[in-house]
Amino acid sequence: MNLNELTIAEARKGLDTKKFSSVELTQASLDHIYERKDLNAFVTITDEVAKVEAKIADKRITKKESGALTGIPFSVKDVICTIDVRSTASAKILDNYIPPYEATVIKKIRKQGAVLVGKTNCDAFGHGASNENSMYGPVKNPYDETKVSGGSSGGSAVSVADHQAIFSIAEDTGGSIRQPSAFCGVAGFRPSYGRNSRYGIMPMASSLDVVGPIAKTVEDIALLMEVIAGHDTKDSTSVPDAVPQYSKNLNTSVKGMKVGIPKEYMELEGIDEETRKIIEEKIQSCKELGMEIIEISLPLTKYAIPVYYIVVSSEDSSNLGRIDAIRYGVQVDGTSLINVYANSREQGFPEEVKRRIMIGTYALSDGYYDAYYRKAQKVRTLIRQEFDEAFTGVDVILTPTSPFPAFNFGTKTDDILAMYLTDVFVSPAAVAGIPALSIPAGKTQSGLPVGLQILGPRLAEERVLQVGYSIEKTF
Ligand code: GLN
Repeated sequence: MNLNELTIAEARKGLDTKKFSSVELTQASLDHIYERKDLNAFVTITDEVAKVEAKIADKRITKKESGALTGIPFSVKDVICTIDVRSTASAKILDNYIPPYEATVIKKIRKQGAVLVGKTNCDAFGHGASNENSMYGPVKNPYDETKVSGGSSGGSAVSVADHQAIFSIAEDTGGSIRQPSAFCGVAGFRPSYGRNSRYGIMPMASSLDVVGPIAKTVEDIALLMEVIAGHDTKDSTSVPDAVPQYSKNLNTSVKGMKVGIPKEYMELEGIDEETRKIIEEKIQSCKELGMEIIEISLPLTKYAIPVYYIVVSSEDSSNLGRIDAIRYGVQVDGTSLINVYANSREQGFPEEVKRRIMIGTYALSDGYYDAYYRKAQKVRTLIRQEFDEAFTGVDVILTPTSPFPAFNFGTKTDDILAMYLTDVFVSPAAVAGIPALSIPAGKTQSGLPVGLQILGPRLAEERVLQVGYSIEKTF
């Protein structure tokens, strides 16, 4: 087995017992990144930084001062600020932006001595579900290069699935961690809103954005959550609740747990038959773990997509208003200052970002605010309450992560609604602010991965990870 194919837990053992060094492990990652540049997972490869960090990590390991992540190569989605390392959000408007500060979650990871190998490609500013909205080209699916990687964190998912990095840190506003993880056969976790600090994440929709890990196993996800979760004085929406020892408690038995299956999800029109079958088999196999399967109904979640796209666009139009194109990327001449802004934003943002800004500006405008934004927020509360109510009867809820596996390039780019509808199973948890984990559930006949999604009550990350771990370990 190549070193870059190890999990965090395996690499930790090898590093601590000196079977190999961080320098060797990092080199294996970097070599593979260059070997598979054709997949286009990275916007920026930080080989110089990585080599220095790996040497420092090896010294820490020798002095027996290592933490869980010391010496482990990782990648970061390009919407997350990394100090002194170019962070473009995959948009030309930030083509040469080098942040003078670092996102809190990345700071925590690097403090442990993890090694940054690069910044991953994504849909620009996190807008998309196929990675086709990146201004640095789409990311290919390693299982079938004619298919999309999923989005928006396609580069992060591919970097882990193709063993270019041992784990990745990404952002999920409405599915961007879970859906590409499902398409690429890796584990991806969206924690509850507020569990992790958002400081240093370029905001898309501030009331929905969360940052979370993509890794090869649930055990690795738990290890990462232990490092990154917790309150941050720089993000007033981060919660002060104590962070459980996720990895220590993973093995807790799930026997007797009640698993809710929302009938509206499995009966959805347009769900791919093979996907439905794979998920149904996985659900049935939960019985072997002593879990009780209960059919539930979540009728309001059909409004999750319309609510999501109104809230996201509205908050987007406000958040992205600050990007003026004066300092950090394409700047196009104009006849006046306003004209320079307009021309530069026209060229520096891709179509999808401009579409969201326009929809959001409209939804927030005088006379429409009540009809769109306020109404969406009210329905959002009802969706959250519906989940709260459901969780009084069940411990977790299982659904497919995506209604279909990875699709061909270009098939949804001209049909915006079809692209938005790919989020049907991932947007409800986002709107409700609850934790959601995607784990590999199997593969279609043509070899494409299918993801199973596990939802839990707000701040019940521990339970969601325990269920994911049991399913992963047993099957
Ligand atoms: N598909 C979602 C969107 O385009 C994903 C966004 C995200 O989670 N960053 O809005």
